[in-house]
Amino acid sequence: MIHLQLLRKSSQTRSRKQLSQLFSTISQISSQPSKPPSFGIAFDIDGVVLRGNTPIGGASRALRRLYDGSGVLKVPFVFLTNGGGIRESKRAAELSELLGVKISPSQVLQGHSPFKQLVNRFENELIVAVGKGEPAVVMSEYGFKNVISIDEYALYFDNIDPLAPYKKWGTIDFAVERTRKCSINSKRVQAAFIVSDSVDWSRDIQVLCDTLRTGGLPASEEGPQPPLYFAHDDLKYQGAFPSERLGMGAFRIALESVFNSIHAEALKYTYFGKLNPVAFKNAEVVLKQQASFIYRELNIVNHANSGSHDFQTLYMIGDNPAVDIKGARQARNPWFPILTRTGVFKGDHHSNYPEFPANMVVDTVEEAVDFILRNEHQITD
Ligand SMILES: [Mg+2]
Repeated sequence: MIHLQLLRKSSQTRSRKQLSQLFSTISQISSQPSKPPSFGIAFDIDGVVLRGNTPIGGASRALRRLYDGSGVLKVPFVFLTNGGGIRESKRAAELSELLGVKISPSQVLQGHSPFKQLVNRFENELIVAVGKGEPAVVMSEYGFKNVISIDEYALYFDNIDPLAPYKKWGTIDFAVERTRKCSINSKRVQAAFIVSDSVDWSRDIQVLCDTLRTGGLPASEEGPQPPLYFAHDDLKYQGAFPSERLGMGAFRIALESVFNSIHAEALKYTYFGKLNPVAFKNAEVVLKQQASFIYRELNIVNHANSGSHDFQTLYMIGDNPAVDIKGARQARNPWFPILTRTGVFKGDHHSNYPEFPANMVVDTVEEAVDFILRNEHQITD
């Protein structure tokens, strides 16, 4: 541990070669083959392993190295992404297909995954889910029994969106049934969840302002604001377009700005996802469970000891200094942030991000994994 702290202090001033040699020495000193390896990896997705739906930076090759020859996982790893809008099981299947390795749903930690923790509070309450993809399906799978998407919710209030007739895109077709309409537009919404990026900002800002100002029932008197939860607060992200796109944090700014301009009390909200130390703590818990499983399979530790396993280093590989790197730095020990140049960060070969410097900057995710495996003495090729 002392070695690692020393390394962290000095890492910003040493060259990569020096770092590699130093890590190698440390590994030799501390290597104890009878014990399970003491590291795990969290990968960001957008701008690190994928750009849109295209793998980048040698991601498939890099991930394959975390499995043995027969495709069995040997290094604990998760995807820690703020993206979402689809169920973890579906995302795992998509990632397996795109990257050519077997990803399990438990390895996919999305921005909205922590919403599960609120099921006890809102299990049977009427809640609204906002965003692209299948936000209501995601929330139902978490156990919320009375969730409605904002697409459907808006349909139960005639003329709530005066711009709707001018919108040229196709809307999702929900059958507006009279009984359901009566039950929805007479009940108060108890919470709103921004699960993924809003598709129709103008309608969603309008409907959310209507709902949040009135204690949960549009067109009624003003009332206490129901809780509002965001899956994350990323201002921007790297998609398929060459420059960054506006993310959920930008939508939050727009909603907050409008709400605070028309309402006496400021908007209250909570956001999860990366930056929030809870996301990193949760990733650590999941990685520990994976490590226990892997090592039990290898009979390195017995069942009774498996839960007590502690990581010496957890690597966060990300492209966004203000989210991935800042978040891992704030989460502190044992997190070790590595910044790639394939996404939001586009610095040259010698630069780091001055405001939130990573412990290491690399060109690609493949280079990051190569570095990790060398320094953890896990080289197999
Ligand atoms: Mg990213």
